[in-house]
Amino acid sequence: MSRDFPIIIPLLVGVLTIEKSNFVYSRYQGTKIEAPCIMFVIDVGGKKIVVDTGPCDSEKAAKYHGPLRRDPSMHPESALQSIGINSDDVEFVILSHLHWDHCSNCKMFKNATFIVQETELQYAVTPNEVQKAQYEMGFPGVIPPWVEVLPQISTVSGDVHDFQKGVHLITLPGHTPGLMGVAVETQKQLYILASDCVPLVENWMGDNRLSHIPNGLHIDLAAYENSFKKLEKLGGTVLAAHDFETLKHSVYPFASR
Ligand SMILES: [Zn+2]
Repeated sequence: MSRDFPIIIPLLVGVLTIEKSNFVYSRYQGTKIEAPCIMFVIDVGGKKIVVDTGPCDSEKAAKYHGPLRRDPSMHPESALQSIGINSDDVEFVILSHLHWDHCSNCKMFKNATFIVQETELQYAVTPNEVQKAQYEMGFPGVIPPWVEVLPQISTVSGDVHDFQKGVHLITLPGHTPGLMGVAVETQKQLYILASDCVPLVENWMGDNRLSHIPNGLHIDLAAYENSFKKLEKLGGTVLAAHDFETLKHSVYPFASR
C-alpha cells in the first residue's frame, strides 16, 4: 500500500464499566456495559499522529470517575510499543476534547504539539457543574492532565482541511462545546474518528425513534443535531470512540477477503 495515504491504528488503552445510558441518551437506564477507551495512531507517510491519549490508571479512575480496567498491556506507552512506536517520536497529538478518558497520559508525549479546539480549551477552564469532573476540575490537589501540557498546546478554531495530507480536523460540538473529530482519507475510503459524538455504533445507527442518538452526556442538543448532519454529509465510515467494534480491525483500511 502506498505510504502516501494515511492509515489508522486503533489501540485499546482501558476498559470502562459504565451505565449504558451515559452513552445512549434516554435509553438503557440501569444497564451496565464494558466500554473500551481507544487511542488512535494515524501514520501519514511515516509521520506519527496520535488522536486522544486515553484514561488515567485504575486507582485514580476509581477515586474520581468510576470503575476502569487497565491491564499493563493497555498502558498507552505499552500499546504504542506493541506497534513499534516510541512516544518521543510522536509529532502531533490531536485531543478530540478534554474529558479525562480522552486526554490523560498527555505528559508522556514530550516532543509533541497538542492540537485542541480553542472553544474546548476555554470551556475546560470553567465547565458547568455537570461536566466539571469530566475535566478533572475542582478536585483538591489534582492537576487536570490537559493542564500539565498547556505549554505544548496549540489551539485551532473551526475545521482544518489537510491538517496533514488527507487528515482533516472537523468540529462536532454537542457532547462538549469544542469536540473535534478527525476525517482521514485512506487509500480505500474516508474514515471519521468521531470521538464522543458517536461513542457506540448504535449512537450512529439510531433506532425506531431517532436516526442518530446523542451521547447521554451532552451540553447542546441543537449543536449535536447539526454535528450528526455534518457527519452524514461527509459520508465515509464513522468509527465509534467506545465500541469494541472499532477494535475488530487492527488497522484501517483493512484488507477485505
Ligand atoms: Zn467525553
